[in-house]
Amino acid sequence: MTGAAPDLRVTGVSPEAVVFDCDGVLVDSEPLSNAIFAQVITEEGLLTTFEDSVRLYLGRSNAESAAQIEAALGRPLRTDLIGEYERRAAAAFCKELTAVPGVRELLDELAAAGTPRCVASSGTPEEIALRLEITRLGHYFGDHVYSASMVPRGKPEPELFLHAAAQLGVDPAQCVLIEDSRYGVRGGKAAGMTVIGMAALVSAEDLRAAGADHVVDEMPQVRKLLGL
Ligand SMILES: [Mg+2]
Repeated sequence: MTGAAPDLRVTGVSPEAVVFDCDGVLVDSEPLSNAIFAQVITEEGLLTTFEDSVRLYLGRSNAESAAQIEAALGRPLRTDLIGEYERRAAAAFCKELTAVPGVRELLDELAAAGTPRCVASSGTPEEIALRLEITRLGHYFGDHVYSASMVPRGKPEPELFLHAAAQLGVDPAQCVLIEDSRYGVRGGKAAGMTVIGMAALVSAEDLRAAGADHVVDEMPQVRKLLGL
């Protein structure tokens, strides 16, 4: 579709499977995560604002973010930055993490329709499991939870999404991916999927520039796009 066309016109999107990013799509973790990540990077010696964290690291794996931080510092990390981030984030999530509004209803409808679905996240399996457990979303996915740690290269490369589609037994071209990050959108397009961008911390404009086929700003719009 062109940038000028309305996002919610009748699209005919009728996927064989729906692939969900985790952070920012299933769980509303990104405001908390980026505040904490900016804080630990700044403590390491690289002044980083919340906005910097969103722009540079949202949607990447922790390992890839750490490599990027070391490159910016021009030296190895002095602290266990990722471990500290994970500890603080887990504590904050246990208190405050919620599901993204409307996603439970979408998952109920997909489950009722028998549409295969999975999670494909830059997080580690442990991080994904924690988020799904706190928000009680895990039962919608069963074993179909895929982490960037399962493939050689994470988002924005297509490998995680190709792995997810292969595990579901579905052609990537017949999958719809829901993503809130530029890295994720790029990875999904590289895998040949139809990508719905969920604009929140990353703008609709940036998601479109990354290649999103459709952009929404709330979950009920995804339900309309999918004809539910
Ligand atoms: Mg995300």
